[in-house]
Amino acid sequence: MSPHSKFDVAIIGTGIIGISTAYYLAKNHGITNIALIDRSQPMEFTSAQSGENYRNWWPHPEMVDFTNRSIDLLEEVARDSGNRINMNRRGYALVTRNTNIDELVSQLHDGLGDSASSLLRYHSDAAAPTYQRPIKPDWEGVPDGVDILQNQDLIRATFPSYAQDVQTIIHIRRGGDISGQQLGMYMLEYLKEVGAVRIIGTVEGIDQNDGYQVALSGGDTKVVHADKIVNAAGPFAKEIGEMLGVSLPIRCTFQQKIAFDDRENAIPRDMPFSIDLDGQKIDWTDEEREMLLEEPEFRWLAEDMPGCIHCRPDGGDGGTWLKLGWAFNHEPSRASWTPELMDNFPEIVLRGAARLNPSLKAYYDNLPRTMHHYGGYYAMTEENWPLIGQMGPEGVFMNAALSGYGTMAATGSGELTAAWVAGAELPSYARKFSMQRYDDDAFMAKLRAGNRGIL
Ligand SMILES: Cc1cc2nc3c(=O)[nH]c(=O)nc-3n(C[C@H](O)[C@H](O)[C@H](O)COP(=O)(O)OP(=O)(O)OC[C@H]3O[C@@H](n4cnc5c(N)ncnc54)[C@H](O)[C@@H]3O)c2cc1C
Repeated sequence: MSPHSKFDVAIIGTGIIGISTAYYLAKNHGITNIALIDRSQPMEFTSAQSGENYRNWWPHPEMVDFTNRSIDLLEEVARDSGNRINMNRRGYALVTRNTNIDELVSQLHDGLGDSASSLLRYHSDAAAPTYQRPIKPDWEGVPDGVDILQNQDLIRATFPSYAQDVQTIIHIRRGGDISGQQLGMYMLEYLKEVGAVRIIGTVEGIDQNDGYQVALSGGDTKVVHADKIVNAAGPFAKEIGEMLGVSLPIRCTFQQKIAFDDRENAIPRDMPFSIDLDGQKIDWTDEEREMLLEEPEFRWLAEDMPGCIHCRPDGGDGGTWLKLGWAFNHEPSRASWTPELMDNFPEIVLRGAARLNPSLKAYYDNLPRTMHHYGGYYAMTEENWPLIGQMGPEGVFMNAALSGYGTMAATGSGELTAAWVAGAELPSYARKFSMQRYDDDAFMAKLRAGNRGIL
């Protein structure tokens, strides 16, 4: 039982988003009388499934500013903690077989605005004297901006594992990966020191009467009293909204990844996080393809598949593991505490990823038995922007709908939510991340019609 009779703030959810919100409430505003409520242990649900990649690429200036701010804050944590979060920076390599990249360049201009002319660097000769190759993993000393490579010799020399048909690489430099788990633990240790309290229990309802009463089941505490509430319930943020009569435009799509020991050394350890942008037909044998086409349930696997397959070395330069992912599922589903993995996903993502890195074919029907297959929900709005700010009744806030970018944006969204809760000054993009954006029809129409920033 908590000794506190009433908290200043109760945060529902101790994934990375709830934890980061509490961290910035304490650190920036001195608010430490915080209850962190979760049905289970911290960082156990979606936040345990993250690919843990970060980047500042986005086709909208507000999202570029937001992710840049988040990365600034991640750098601050890396600096203060002796890089406990294992932040590295080899960038994101967006790869295509197209030579005409007008649309990709136009998206870069949309995001970078007036800065684009100084941040985009084109390399069309093999020597590329101004291109800083991603040799070292360190996050410090890497140029900002984007290198665009269109010389075949340069591409082969820098990315030797890629297929020979690759024509263009858009190398986003402010990107890499971190340990999201370590970030969460670092923040939790700070929260413990300043006196924030963790409470185990499933939120069943919320009443408003001289502040808020959060009813819990499954733990020792039955009711938590608080002046303010933050909804950071990840895939269940919609359900928490409903408890307060607020309908949040959030839907969930289930996405999966695999990780395995690259015993064949198929992928160079210094390969940046690579995304094959091009759609494809998966590399099945003729016989397999025919069998798939005959089965209505599996036919789609033999037809055109979307692009954006992810591949990166995992565990640093001295490690041997790989991570592969492919967020091809767009089917919204209601979040479940026990989502089902798709049995054939490992072979699907492997075959898809082998198109960019053909040496992965060594694992066809032969993935190591120790392979880890996992998944979680992208909780997202239709336009793929987050929902941060006031949520319905006075004193209730949300930090939700962080889709597939919540690990990288946790610091920025935590800082922003804390500023809303404390009534502090807000950054220029704040209102557009809140429910207020839905009042601006023209803005919403533009967001819905354009690229949603999903990689
Ligand atoms: C496969 C996959 C890959 C991803 N890759 C990346 C990536 O590379 N980079 C990146 O930045 N992001 C990535 N993401 C996104 C990122 O993981 C999420 O955006 C982030 O983890 C969301 O954190 P959260 O705290 O909002 O949610 P969660 O971690 O799900 O936390 C919500 C918490 O709320 C609790 N809760 C909910 N309802 C209740 C209730 N009624 N009572 C009590 N507790 C409740 C849950 O138990 C849970 O602990 C990926 C996501 C997936 C699924």
